[in-house]
Amino acid sequence: AGRRGSSAAWVFLTAWGAVLGGGFIRSLIGVEAIPRTPVAEYALYVGSVLEAMILALGLSYRVGQLREQRIRAEHEQHRAMTLANQDALTGAYNRRFFESYLTAMMDDARRADIEGALLLMDIDHFKQVNDTHGHEAGDMMLRSLTRRCLRELRDGDVLCRLGGDEFAIVLRSLSGSAAVEVARRIHRAATERPVVYDGARVELAVSIGVLAELEQGLDRSEALRRADRALYRAKERGRNRVVRHGDE
Ligand code: GH3
Ligand code: MG
Repeated sequence: AGRRGSSAAWVFLTAWGAVLGGGFIRSLIGVEAIPRTPVAEYALYVGSVLEAMILALGLSYRVGQLREQRIRAEHEQHRAMTLANQDALTGAYNRRFFESYLTAMMDDARRADIEGALLLMDIDHFKQVNDTHGHEAGDMMLRSLTRRCLRELRDGDVLCRLGGDEFAIVLRSLSGSAAVEVARRIHRAATERPVVYDGARVELAVSIGVLAELEQGLDRSEALRRADRALYRAKERGRNRVVRHGDE
């Protein structure tokens, strides 16, 4: 380890050298090969103190190294987890995370009396934005939309980009008309200003389907189907609006 560049190894080797050397000299005194003079006794005493000091130094150094390694490993693990669950373009959560999160949340809702709502949101005529202003402008719109939505969400609410121009928002501890209110607020925040790209003002419109009660007993695919039906109705009724499942 010392040859591979570990300074801790050298500290331990020195300490062990001191222990062995000390032991050897003690044996020589034991067999009276070295006379037991006060100077020899004193040298042995100083040697033992030095051994202990070097060992303590080596140990604390090693403990520090291990702690650093653990922090680095935790950091790496956190980074890997984030990358696996994050959409690279917008920084929102991705579909993989959304699926496991929604399942876990609905399980929670079944066990405890937790309320929640699911919003599906899709940009209106997004293809046209790409065709008219270019793919870069489309990407920027996706990022702006993400930022605008995140500003409206509370801790515990989750925004995911499911793919393309489709997003899902899971609202925790919110149900019924309160969830619809939040959906309207998100809609307003998302669409009230155009996105400026390369000097051009590009209008941003979204349709949102709301499943206002993630009721107990509902499974994930049924919840998605209901929210999707509401989104479909919003598109069908002329886009750029919020439609709640059940009000279609
Ligand atoms: P609608 O109102 O019916 O939703 O119409 P739309 O044009 O938005 O239709 P749709 O949702 O099917 O279009 C999605 C478009 O999103 C098609 C694809 O070119 C574009 N798209 C998908 N992923 C990306 C992306 O990462 N960046 C950009 N710029 N465009 C993307
Ligand atoms: Mg769309």
